[in-house]
Amino acid sequence: MRDSLRGFESVAAELRSWLEALRLALGAETACLWTLASTDRLSVALHSPRETEITPEDVPLHGHALGWVVTEGVSLRASRRDIFRGAEEGWVVAAPVSEVRGERIGCVALEFDGVPRLDAPRALELAAALAGRLLGDVHAAERALTDLRKYEALYGAIQDLDRELDLAELASSVCRRARRVSGARGAVVARWDSGRGEGSILASDGETGRDLAGAQLDGESSFLGLALSNVTVLPRDDLTGKARFPLYVQGVDSRAGSAVIVPMVADADPIGALAVEYERPRQYTEGDLERLKALALFVGPAFRNAVAFGEVKALSLTDALTGLPNRRATERALASTIAVAERAGGPFAVAVADIDHFKRLNDRHGHDAGDLVLRSVARTIREGLRPGDHAGRWGGEEFLIVLAATSLEDAARVVERVRRSVELMHVEWEGCALSVTISVGLSAYPEVVRSGAATVASADAALYKAKRSGRNVVALADVRG
Ligand code: GH3
Ligand code: MG
Ligand code: MG
Repeated sequence: MRDSLRGFESVAAELRSWLEALRLALGAETACLWTLASTDRLSVALHSPRETEITPEDVPLHGHALGWVVTEGVSLRASRRDIFRGAEEGWVVAAPVSEVRGERIGCVALEFDGVPRLDAPRALELAAALAGRLLGDVHAAERALTDLRKYEALYGAIQDLDRELDLAELASSVCRRARRVSGARGAVVARWDSGRGEGSILASDGETGRDLAGAQLDGESSFLGLALSNVTVLPRDDLTGKARFPLYVQGVDSRAGSAVIVPMVADADPIGALAVEYERPRQYTEGDLERLKALALFVGPAFRNAVAFGEVKALSLTDALTGLPNRRATERALASTIAVAERAGGPFAVAVADIDHFKRLNDRHGHDAGDLVLRSVARTIREGLRPGDHAGRWGGEEFLIVLAATSLEDAARVVERVRRSVELMHVEWEGCALSVTISVGLSAYPEVVRSGAATVASADAALYKAKRSGRNVVALADVRG
């Protein structure tokens, strides 16, 4: 396919020499080919003589005489100063350039220092028609090349996607690839949880206004609802221009001209939706729709795998009895807190909390009562902390609390509050109200220890001190030299 595009540079060269010949034949100072740079601007694509500086290099499509030549498809002959503000005296003759199919692609403008020949506008119109044919070829070649690249992006996506097991990573990769296969300006991927009857945005990419990840969606009014009630592509081409179109979330105006929504399905279950948006109405091609559908077909099973993997991963990091992060997860949280703190020069605090005389409680009321108390202590500790703080089950009846970006003084206040809440806690068990207390050892970096890794051992030593001093207290670690 690429071989057939070889004529590409030669078309540009031909256009340039044609422009030069036109300029010389009509006695103009400069000749410019202006083409649509975006939906609302015209810019200089080629000019003659080559070394001339052309100012301005682009003009708005609406509100400028050259734009008017393009949108209305009429020729123009006017004073240079009327066309370009601040220009030297002279004349401009311009004619629209259209493809054979009639699609406007720009205009040719000649600038004259003196008065142009009378036949200049007519000659320019004829020349512009020829330019349209040549440019039409270039555009067709460009379209074919763009399509080829989009298919290559689709094949790449199909190869790579089922290797990605992290759901968030998968979703952002799908967004990027969706844009590449469809030429859309923005993409968003949402997950639908049919069990809970709720959905949320996993990732967004491109000009969607802002990062939308995490936004909740309902299954009815959002684009997710559209995808859920239809198993086919829904081109939202009933929008006009800059219609206010809350495609992604209620309250977010994406101002898209058109959008394509594709449901994602795995084992015949709806599991989410992929949506892309375009600036203009009907900007997508049939090929774009086909590639998006194909992409969604492969994304569905990859999604299901990533969800299942995520669930297994969460289980492997959660303590089954208390629901808190387990030792492995706590070690990870600690390691990343240490890394961040050591880079930034601290601070952070670590507390080890241990239930007092827990063996006695087990012996007196049985292991099930002990389990219930363990769960209650875990909940009380969790509820006494801020969302960003980490509390995990460190061992049997020991908990590790990691307070990122917290000084020793602040941590002591937090941990004392937690100790007090546990002391006030009562657990109903076979008609008795069980109560327990905790002892806590607290250390902090860099106020107490010089290395982040030493905080746990130092907090452990403080815990020992708390136990010796009679339990139900918070003991601070000793500063070592
Ligand atoms: P201290 O105040 O010195 O900490 O006394 P303690 O009795 O709490 O200390 P010790 O380490 O001697 O006993 C801890 C007990 O915690 C022993 C063990 O049976 C109990 N335990 C550990 N894990 C669990 C669990 O998952 N469930 C129950 N019910 N008990 C547990
Ligand atoms: Mg204990
Ligand atoms: Mg213990």
